Amino acid sequence: MQKKIQEQENQTKPTVDYTEDYPRFDPAGRGEYTILVPDMLPWHFDIIRQVVAKRGYKMEVLKNDSRAVIDEGLKHVHNDTCYPALCVIGQYIDALKSGKYDPDKTAVMITQSGGGCRASNYVPLIRKALKAEFPQVPVLSLNFAGLEKGNSIEVDLSLLLELAFAIFYGDSLMTLYNQTKPYEVHEGDADRARTDCFAEIGRAFEGKGYLHYKKLTKKMIGRFGEVERRKEKKVRVGIVGEIYVKYSPLGNSHLEAFLLSEGCEPVVPALMDFVLYCIVNNINDTRLYGRTKKMGLVYSIVYKVAYHIQKQIISVYKKDGRFEPPHDFEHLRRCADKVINQGVKMGEGWLIPAEMAALAETGTENIVCAQPFGCLPNHIAGKGAVRAVKALFPDENVVAIDYDSSASRVNQENRIKLMLATARENLKNKEKSGANY
Ligand code: SF4
Repeated sequence: MQKKIQEQENQTKPTVDYTEDYPRFDPAGRGEYTILVPDMLPWHFDIIRQVVAKRGYKMEVLKNDSRAVIDEGLKHVHNDTCYPALCVIGQYIDALKSGKYDPDKTAVMITQSGGGCRASNYVPLIRKALKAEFPQVPVLSLNFAGLEKGNSIEVDLSLLLELAFAIFYGDSLMTLYNQTKPYEVHEGDADRARTDCFAEIGRAFEGKGYLHYKKLTKKMIGRFGEVERRKEKKVRVGIVGEIYVKYSPLGNSHLEAFLLSEGCEPVVPALMDFVLYCIVNNINDTRLYGRTKKMGLVYSIVYKVAYHIQKQIISVYKKDGRFEPPHDFEHLRRCADKVINQGVKMGEGWLIPAEMAALAETGTENIVCAQPFGCLPNHIAGKGAVRAVKALFPDENVVAIDYDSSASRVNQENRIKLMLATARENLKNKEKSGANY
């Protein structure tokens, strides 16, 4: 009888206590805290750090990326969880254990898109991982979807605007650097141009100069244009995939640096495309899934403004003519429509095949599709869409690489080297035939 009562009690008891309290972050005490962020967006987070510093937040972008980071992740996250969660949590705990930070005055922060994927549940996962060793460390979320209210930095309209421009400028920095570095005649010139542009962006954010985006983009193009570049053709390799492993050097085993070391030009699509993808998904939700019209309207206005700025920036590139601009987002949407429905929006959804198609259309036929272990949505929309993309672009040379705690870097790089062997062969044939590419 006693056993039966116990069984009944167990059945009604929730397995997780969602009412459990957790440490809160009081924005009023922001000056005392160091906020650690994972090294997810190396081109953008350093600009964002400057933007939030103006408001009194001390943000530090973590650069620890030894094997110990992955091991900490494995210790604190179930190994069925997708790889980015493991990397992010491992990086936090490894940093907190380093003794460099006072846990009583440290918080950790993560960005969230608010989509339907697991990333929207990373915050409880991080709290659970920190609980055993650093229960006093608050977990903040930076998102624009109304998640984790009261556990974020204070985001008002002006910060929102500055963050959007930080993304635009981070994209330009990444685009210009990647189109310069492989061709520089004097070693280090591209790095010096990057440092100068970064300083220029920092100065623009000290006042309202960041609003003059055409002028600032022109300056950046001008500075990179000063770098003497060789005229030779190099193998261009696009990087698409899940947002974390696409950009994070920890997540993708330093993929951009590896491609540069192989004498290739990495072509990394803009982060703003992901932001616009999230906005468009919210608009599509109204049409496809019956979401309130009011929200659809708000997102439509935001989209129009952001897309207008993107188009203006692209026009600056085109007018100058020395560098290729980032993709036009409406073009990306048209590319998506050839392969997949825009209702497929879990993870990076339709954005991945759209980017693969747009890269092929604009002369980047070699592509690494970066996919984290345990990421079902991106295996479907990434690797799963390769065949459909190849049907449209038969010369497309795609390799899907899994990033995982147990996958060796050598193995990943060897698979990319095989893809590069075909790419070099194709380039040689095109040069021989005098094709216009
Ligand atoms: S998109 Fe993939 S990696 Fe990202 S949260 Fe979802 S399952 Fe995880």
